[in-house]
Amino acid sequence: MQVTDLPEAALPVWLQAALEPPPAALRRVRVTVDAVDGAHVRVGAETLLNFAGNDYLGLAGDPAVYDAAVSGAARWGVGGSASHLLSGHTRAHQAAEERAAAWLGFERALLFSSGYLANLAAVTALAGRGTSLYADRLNHACLNDAARLSGARLRRYRHADLDTLARWLAADPSPQKWVLTDAVFSMDGDIARIDRLLDLCHRFDAMLLVDDAHGFGVLGGGRGTLHEPTFAPAVFGGGRADPRVVLMVTLGKAAGVAGALLLGAAPLIDAVIQRGRSYIYTTALPPLLAEAAIAAIGRIADDECALRRRRLLAMAGQIRQGLAEAGIRCGADAGAWSAPTDDLPATPIVPIMLGTEKRAVAAMATLRRAGLWVPAIRPPTVPAGTARLRVSLSASHSTQHTDRLTHALKELFCDG
Ligand SMILES: *Cc1c(COP(=O)(O)O)cnc(C)c1O
Repeated sequence: MQVTDLPEAALPVWLQAALEPPPAALRRVRVTVDAVDGAHVRVGAETLLNFAGNDYLGLAGDPAVYDAAVSGAARWGVGGSASHLLSGHTRAHQAAEERAAAWLGFERALLFSSGYLANLAAVTALAGRGTSLYADRLNHACLNDAARLSGARLRRYRHADLDTLARWLAADPSPQKWVLTDAVFSMDGDIARIDRLLDLCHRFDAMLLVDDAHGFGVLGGGRGTLHEPTFAPAVFGGGRADPRVVLMVTLGKAAGVAGALLLGAAPLIDAVIQRGRSYIYTTALPPLLAEAAIAAIGRIADDECALRRRRLLAMAGQIRQGLAEAGIRCGADAGAWSAPTDDLPATPIVPIMLGTEKRAVAAMATLRRAGLWVPAIRPPTVPAGTARLRVSLSASHSTQHTDRLTHALKELFCDG
């Protein structure tokens, strides 16, 4: 038989129907970046000012981090080779864990190749049938996925609604209770009241898992949200972290590398090593990235990054103020933890609430024509009716850059 006689290859009809893409305003598209240069990216012939990243301190291209990765490659090669429980756990991984645990004030740390895997391992290893999980409605998707995978009972409280959480905890006869929260909400930019959540956990004998993907490197002098002066006495009053607190920080955002750390009391971290399937059954993060992570932690802790942080947080405050003065609604919804409050800084995540996905997509397209990359965030990433633009600031931005953005946003929303 000749090749030309073969029936035309096609997917089964039932599958074609299941693969029908969503309507245009909801469709997800990838943009292929050709080059990165500080705050700018090149996409084909376009040069765009990037407000769509999470490289808050500009460390993704940092020479010290880069050098550590290169010498790490020379020492260890490129691959991770094996899982941690086979031969994949190197001196580099061990050193990164020890450095992070000491600096962040926890008994032990465990290195993962992504934050998604870290949350999955933590929740599935530490909760199961018989456990009650309480989660903020605006938590990151991976905490919800982890909760579902664990088989535990999951209840999601309205964003920041601690009265409801307290009522649910009080009425729960289960002895095993966890509260799961983002520290900085990734699409809203507000900060969870860790002090009040921890207080509830003490009152109702619950544990607290804090996902600080967006606070690590940025808040608390770089050590993250728990180290903000508002929360540190509650969390670290006894010197080391309260053993009721388990922390997850990602290394792919402000640290500019990849991977994540889970931090907590020693028996708890050991239980995750024993039972965390997304820890056990995956290849270790390449050791060169563990070396890069150590260098990145060193950078986050140094004086130069302290200056970057101060500038970044000042810019975040200025941009919110500029938008508020122009009558542009940014920041969290009524009833939420508003950001900033008197005792907490404005974070570099600035949402501009637009409601419908059509409005968000149209605004993104207009800004892109002006050379600004500000992503439209739509359901299901955010609840229906709360589509928005998400501005993400970085220390790589100058005030000239943020002025350009503010100007364009005013033109889009105020003069039109
Ligand atoms: C990005 C993010 C994660 C996932 O971390 P990765 O290392 O990218 O897998 C988890 N939680 C929150 C809140 C995030 O923003």
